[in-house]
Amino acid sequence: MRITVLAGGVGGARFVRGVREEVRRNRPGASVDVIVNTGDDWWLAGLRITPDLDSMLYTLSGQNDEERGWGRVGESERVSAELRAYGVTPEWFTLGDLDLGTHIARTAWLRQGLSPSEVVRRLQERWELGVTLHPASDQEVDTHVVVSDPGALDGTGERELHFQEWWTRHRAGIPALRFHQHGLHHAIPSVGALGALLDADVVLVAPSNPVVSIGTILSIPGMAQAVAASPGTIVGVSPIIAGAAVRGMADQCLSAIGVATDAAAVARHYGARSRVVRQATGARGLLDAWLVGEEDADAADGLQSEGIETRAVPLWMRDLDTAADLARDALDLAVELRSRP
Ligand code: GDP
Ligand code: CA
Repeated sequence: MRITVLAGGVGGARFVRGVREEVRRNRPGASVDVIVNTGDDWWLAGLRITPDLDSMLYTLSGQNDEERGWGRVGESERVSAELRAYGVTPEWFTLGDLDLGTHIARTAWLRQGLSPSEVVRRLQERWELGVTLHPASDQEVDTHVVVSDPGALDGTGERELHFQEWWTRHRAGIPALRFHQHGLHHAIPSVGALGALLDADVVLVAPSNPVVSIGTILSIPGMAQAVAASPGTIVGVSPIIAGAAVRGMADQCLSAIGVATDAAAVARHYGARSRVVRQATGARGLLDAWLVGEEDADAADGLQSEGIETRAVPLWMRDLDTAADLARDALDLAVELRSRP
C-alpha cells in the first residue's frame, strides 16, 4: 500500500507519526510519502527557514521538544541572543542554536544550487524517518496576510504582513482580511509531490490547518488537480472537534475565508470528489471520505448524502497510540471504500 499524506507542521507531524506507527504495527511493506506545506517559509538573517518541514523532520526523528510542542529538544538560544543584540532578528522570533544548524545547512545547500526538494532529501538522510518528505513546491510561495490599516500611507486602508509576523508576533490576533500567497504564478508542484500523488493507493489529508497549511498546498497551480486525479482514495481528517480548533488558531484563518469553525463546514470547503456529485453539480472537490470526532457524529448523515463518506471516530491525538489509532481508522476506511465494487 502506498500512502501519501498532505500535511502542515505540528498537527501534521503528530498525524504522520501516527501513520508511521500504524504502518509499523499493522501494514508491513506500506510506504509513506508526505507532501509538506512550504507557505510558512521565509528568509530571516540571510537564512531560509522552513517551519513545517522542520516540525516534520524533528518530530519524526525524535529530536522535537515534546513539552514545548515545537523546535528541538535540549535547545539553547545563545546565537539567537547575539542576533537580537545586533537587531538582525526580531524579538518575537526565536531561532534555537540547534535549529540554526539546520537552517545554515539548508541555506548552504541552496546557495550551492540544490533545489528545496534536494535539500529536504539531504536533511532527512541523516535520520531514519521511515517516511519520505517532499516540499509541496520547489518555488518560493510565502504566505502573506492582508489586515485592515486605516492609516496606510498608500491609501488602500490595508496592510500586508508575512504570515510569520501575523502568526507568531500577533498570535493571529489581528483579523485577517485575506491570505495572499506570493509567487504562486511561477510555482508548480514538486516532482516528488506529483509522483507521490500519481502512485498513491491512499491519500490522507492530515488534520492540519485547512487554510494556511492544506489550503496553501492546494493553491499551488496544478496541485489540486493532481490530488483530485490521484488513483488513491482520499480520506481527510478534521482538525476541528466540536466547533473548535484542537490546538492552534485555525479559527482565525477559517473566518478570513468565510468558513465556519466546524468539522462539516471544513469538509464542504474541501468538497466531495465523488463522481455522482460531480456529474450532478459540476462541482469539483477533493474528498472521498472524512473523519470527524465522535462529538460531531451528527454531521455524518448530511455529508454522506453529499457524497463524502463520513465516520465519527476518536480524533484527539494525545500520544503515539491515539495518533496510530486515528491513522488506522483513516486507512481502514480507505481500504473499505476501495473494496466496494
Ligand atoms: P502548524 O503548521 O504547525 O500550524 O500545524 P498544522 O497546520 O499541521 O496543524 C495545526 C492544526 O492541527 C490545528 O488547526 C489543530 O486544529 C489540528 N490539531 C492539532 N492537534 C490535533 C489533534 O490531536 N487532533 C486533531 N484532529 N487535530 C489536531
Ligand atoms: Ca505551519
